[in-house]
Amino acid sequence: MDITPATTLSQARRYVEVERFTGVHCPCCDAFVKVYRRKITNSQVRFLRDLYQLARQAVPSFHAGTGIGVDVRQITGQHMRGGDYSKLRHWELIEDHSDIEGASGYWAITAKGKAFLLGQIEVPKYAWVLRDAPVTYSDETISVHDAWGFAFDVGELMV
Ligand SMILES: [Zn+2]
Repeated sequence: MDITPATTLSQARRYVEVERFTGVHCPCCDAFVKVYRRKITNSQVRFLRDLYQLARQAVPSFHAGTGIGVDVRQITGQHMRGGDYSKLRHWELIEDHSDIEGASGYWAITAKGKAFLLGQIEVPKYAWVLRDAPVTYSDETISVHDAWGFAFDVGELMV
C-alpha cells in the first residue's frame, strides 16, 4: 500500500484488516500484524480430558466437573509439551483460574468444554487469533472425535 498525504486512517485500517490474515506491517505504526489460524489438536483434547478427570477427582461430589481450578502441573506427558493447551481458551473450553487460586498454572474446564469433550456439541474447526485474542471463527465445525483424530471412547470419561 502506498501511503500518501491523501490516505485516510480508515483506508489504512481497512488495508490492515484485510492483509493481517497473511501478515502485514501496519502503515501507521509499522508494527507487524498477523492473524494466526489455530485448530484444536489431539494433544489439546488429551489435556481437556485430563483436566476434566482431575476436576472430578478433586471434588467428587461435584457431579458436573466444571469450574474447578486444577493445578495443571499435575498433568504430565508428551501432550503437555509446548504449553499449547492454553490455546483451548480461544474456544472457551477452558478458563484461567490463576487469579481465583492465587497462583499461576490453574485452569478449569468450562461447561462448554465438558459438552465438547463428551461429544454433545461441536466447535468451530478454526479460530483466527491475533495477539492472543480470537478475531473470528470458521463456519465449519468439528467434534471431539475429529479433533482427537481416531475413535474416541467418551464412555471412558463417565464415572
Ligand atoms: Zn499501527
